[in-house]
Amino acid sequence: MIVDTHAHLTLDGLREDLPGVLGRARGAGVGAIITVGIDAADSRAAVELAQATDGVWATVGVHPHDVAELSDAALDDLAGLARADKVVAWGEIGLDFYRNRSPRELQRKWFREQLERAKQLALPVVIHDREAHAETLAVLRDAADSGLRGVFHCFSGDRALARKVLEMGFHLSVPGPVTYPKNDELRRVVAEMPLERLLLETDCPFLAPQPARGKRNEPAHLVHIAAAVAQVRGLEAADVARITTRASRDLFGVGEVAGARIAYPIRRSLYLNLTGRCTNRCSFCGKQRGPEVKGHDLYLEREPAVAEVLAAVDAEGGPAAWDEVVFCGFGEPLLRLPEVLEIARGLRSRGAKRIRVNTDGLASLVHGRDVTAELGAAVDAVSVSLNAPDAETYQRLCRPGVDGAYPALLEFVRRAREQITEVVVSVVTVPGLDLDACRRVARELGVPLRLREYNELG
Ligand code: SF4
Repeated sequence: MIVDTHAHLTLDGLREDLPGVLGRARGAGVGAIITVGIDAADSRAAVELAQATDGVWATVGVHPHDVAELSDAALDDLAGLARADKVVAWGEIGLDFYRNRSPRELQRKWFREQLERAKQLALPVVIHDREAHAETLAVLRDAADSGLRGVFHCFSGDRALARKVLEMGFHLSVPGPVTYPKNDELRRVVAEMPLERLLLETDCPFLAPQPARGKRNEPAHLVHIAAAVAQVRGLEAADVARITTRASRDLFGVGEVAGARIAYPIRRSLYLNLTGRCTNRCSFCGKQRGPEVKGHDLYLEREPAVAEVLAAVDAEGGPAAWDEVVFCGFGEPLLRLPEVLEIARGLRSRGAKRIRVNTDGLASLVHGRDVTAELGAAVDAVSVSLNAPDAETYQRLCRPGVDGAYPALLEFVRRAREQITEVVVSVVTVPGLDLDACRRVARELGVPLRLREYNELG
């Protein structure tokens, strides 16, 4: 399922064709739509539509274009409406210094007032910011300090603005223009931001994506936006759907997400999550941001038994259905070496095409013996996290819980080369890390080096 987090189903062009619009959305996999209010009457229509329609939720708010006639009494009414069932946010609200359809002073006043109402109701906000980046940020910063959350809808800024919005704890939402050939800057934002804070939207009936450009937009076209994001991030559209649905769930409570996973697909690979334990405490570890990886919840209440892991693989179509099966997860898989070997044998007997282990390379040190031969008999490839060109840097970045980690890691790679068909080392491109020195270490070890992008905006 995928969530269109910003649509205007109540506006001309869509409301007279709603059965068709909703049917095509469902057919395209758009399982939830948030229809966004732009003034008092439209907010009421949005709430009524949401309450009458499965798979539709609503927001209430007054758009900066329409605040000239707004009053405290009207805002009180809106606050009452916001308590209704299926209202998930306050918005869209903000500043529009491009069209200036309402006086700027009034835009500022009612933006602040509406933020206050959202805070009182503990609702996230949907922000409209056009040609008013600095001022929108300044107003929001105070509100964000007191715990307000929300999304910059139709994000149109650059990476510098994206960084500030993300630092405030807000989400970014991208619409159809991410598919436009000339919109490289928006694609750069998408390329570098943490995907768990990205939302997808159509803003229909406006802003149709490239394949439908110039026509009326509708939620079914969200698939083109998901495909563009997938291409930018080197993922499958299904990955983007899952990740952004989780983000929508986190912010709005809209979208169905799976519980904790033992086997989890990314692209054409099936990953296995055996443990949350790790020998290291890397400064860049994704665990610090939460229990999720690419939209999968990897928090394990307990470590799964071998049979449970193999059953989880079978539930995903079996190992033969995937290009490779990868021991990875949210910890160091080789801390459970006996189980890894047994599971690998089970995968092999079920037709696995390729089995890989992602590891910190400290297994021989931790287990007190060279484990590479056992591993080589069970798997096709290992990817070892090198992450540093010397012991001192490794200590600082990876903070191992054992002595002698870096030389042990290098020795593991040397021995693995003799025992395992494919061995690569990887480095997370942490700012300031001497990548040339890392390349030299990989060359001396005689293995390829793979760079893993450190997300600058995340
Ligand atoms: S080795 Fe991997 S799982 Fe362990 S702390 Fe480092 S990044 Fe996290």
